[in-house]
Parts: sequence; C-alpha cells; structure tokens
Amino acid sequence: MEHPENDKCYAGLSVNSGVAQPPSVNPYAGKRPRRKPLPTVPEMVEGILRGDVTMLSRAVTLVESLAPDHYALAQEVIEKCLPHSGRSRRIGITGVPGAGKSTSIDVFGLHVLRDGGKLAVLAIDPSSERTKGSILGDKTRMEKLSQHPDAFIRPSPSAGSLGGVARKTRETIVLCEAAGYNNIFVETVGVGQSETAVHSMVDFFLLIQLAGTGDELQGIKRGIMEMADGIVINKADGDNIGPAQLAQAQFRSALHLFPPTESGWKPEVLCYSGYYELGIAEVWDMIDRYFDFVRANGYFDEKRRRQARFWMYESIDEQLRKHFYDNPEVDALLRDNETEVLANRRSSFAAAAKVLDYYFRNKNNR
Ligand code: GDP
Repeated sequence: MEHPENDKCYAGLSVNSGVAQPPSVNPYAGKRPRRKPLPTVPEMVEGILRGDVTMLSRAVTLVESLAPDHYALAQEVIEKCLPHSGRSRRIGITGVPGAGKSTSIDVFGLHVLRDGGKLAVLAIDPSSERTKGSILGDKTRMEKLSQHPDAFIRPSPSAGSLGGVARKTRETIVLCEAAGYNNIFVETVGVGQSETAVHSMVDFFLLIQLAGTGDELQGIKRGIMEMADGIVINKADGDNIGPAQLAQAQFRSALHLFPPTESGWKPEVLCYSGYYELGIAEVWDMIDRYFDFVRANGYFDEKRRRQARFWMYESIDEQLRKHFYDNPEVDALLRDNETEVLANRRSSFAAAAKVLDYYFRNKNNR
C-alpha cells in the first residue's frame, strides 16, 4: 500500500504499512494454568517405593502443604511408607552461617555416595520466610551434589512454628527412606532452637566449628556442644591450620568436663577443610565408627524408639495448638481478652481461663 512518507522528498526511505497487532501481548495471559491432578495415595506410594523422584517431590509438597485435605492425604502416604522406612543413617549437621555447611555437605555427600546408595539432604530453617525463600538446602549452594543423580536436595519447609517445620522434615525423612535413600543429612543453622529439633530426629549430630575467632568456646551454647557426637573444625587450611589445631585442643579439653554421654560414645574433635577437601575421609571414618559402636551396644535402636515417642507427643501438641488457634471464635475471643489484659482491666490468668473455658465448652462443635 502506498504510504504518505513514500513521497519523493523522502527518497531513500520506504515505509511499509505495519501488520495488524493481536489484541493482547499474550492471549493466554488471563487463562489459569491447569493444575496437574493429584496422584492417588496408592499411585504415590508405589512411585515412592520405586524411587521415582517426581513422585517423592510431590509427596513432600503434600507434607509441606497447609491445606487440611493435603495433610490427611500426606498422612495416609506416610503411614503406608512407614514399614519401608528406618533403614538409613540420619545425620544432623549444624554450624553458624559461614561455618561452611554447604561447602562441607557438598564434599561429604560425594564422599558418602562413592560407596553407592542414595543421599537426601533436608534442612530445618524456621526463619526461611523472613529471608524470602530458604537459605538452607538451596541447590545452588551444593553445586556438585545437586548434579548427582543419587542425591535429593530439598530446602527447608517454609516458615511456620519450629515444631511445624520440624514435623514436616521428620515426615519427609520417612518418605525419603521409603524411596531408598540410605543416607539422610539434616542441616540447620546453629543459632537457635532448631538444633534441638534436628537432634531429636537424627542418629548422629555433627557440629561444624571455626577456629581463630578468639571465642571458640564462649561463642557456642553449652547445650549444643553437649548434643554433638562429633565436633569438626572447618577451614583447617593455609594459615588457619595452627589456629584450627589450637581450637581442636580447646574443644577436646572442654569435652572432658562434660558428663558421659548416654550412648557411651566419646565425642571426637577433628580438623578438616571442606573447601580443599582435606581430612574428609577421617571425618567419615569417625561417623562410621560411631554407627558401629551404637549398633553394637543397642543405643541406636533405643534412641530411635525414644525419638518416635517424642514425635508422637510433638505431633499431638502441634495438632492441639492448631485446633485451638485455628478456631475463629477463639481467635476473636483472644483478641478481646488481649485488649483487656493490655489495658490492665483483666489479669492474664483470668483472660486465659475465659478463652480456654469457651474452647473446652465448644470444642466439639467444630
Ligand atoms: P554456610 O553458611 O555454613 O553454608 O557456609 P558456606 O559453605 O557457604 O561457606 C562460607 C564461606 O566459607 C564460603 O565463602 C566458602 O567458600 C568458605 N569456606 C567453606 N569451607 C571452607 C574451607 O574449608 N576453607 C576455606 N578457606 N574456606 C571455606
């Protein structure tokens, strides 16, 4: 078609009329993507037992879901997987941010997988919502492991109460074991309560420490050291070898002051370098010896039984709290009473009694 700008005065320039534009940049933008239908419980269980990673991931997503019908479904899957679980070494790994957890898990993981088998890396990070997406278990942090066909890396369930996050990780362990993962690492940041939760779901608890900070022993809570079955001092490379050995000696003498452990195992202190891959075999040799020791003296089974009992009560606690706080009438009553308490018009105890009284009288209504 002839265009006004094709006048001779614009010689050298030829303008064509444009093509008709579609009504929208993306005609499908308004349409909702279709969700894949959920597999049935038998399909999921069969897939998990076959070691199908997609099915395992979908089941873990159900475990993590907040929807009540997902919860019920997940419980059914877990129940069916339970007889196939338990046959793994569960290892908790903790250390402050920057201690080298992800670097170490990357090399520890490859070391473990050299003997065959499969490895699942899970995490407990109750703060993950604050940091917008989990920092722990993030695949990019474990570069080599994330490309390994026999490694399954799952970030921390997104934030909720620590009890809720920990329960989900505990249930994920069952699913992973049923899928044939015979090594489970559970990672956590060593700064709060989460290591107690991890300790209650693992067989061996590894504490990663750093040397040269001048406050090796003061910086960590005694409770965390008491839980450790092994303390490893990372970054023992280059100029840091001397300080690392010094820290090792300090930790060793500090451990002498602790009461004997329930297992009868004497926690060991080792130096290594995750980055330069030095001393890795020694760390795993210690862990192997621990497992031989506790399997031989019966502590391994005893601890697992106790952990199962602990999780039964944790689960009851969590469900009771949820049932209470999810009740909209209770919620309204709580808010009213809170105002009264803040205004000093009602005592905390009277307010608590009022709400609980209402709840107990009406708990069967829902
Ligand atoms: P995380 O926060 O505990 O997971 O720690 P990272 O694994 O992310 O490590 C924190 C920093 O320490 C990174 O810059 C690593 O490269 C470094 N790092 C980790 N392990 C070693 C080590 O063995 N030697 C040295 N020199 N640096 C290390």
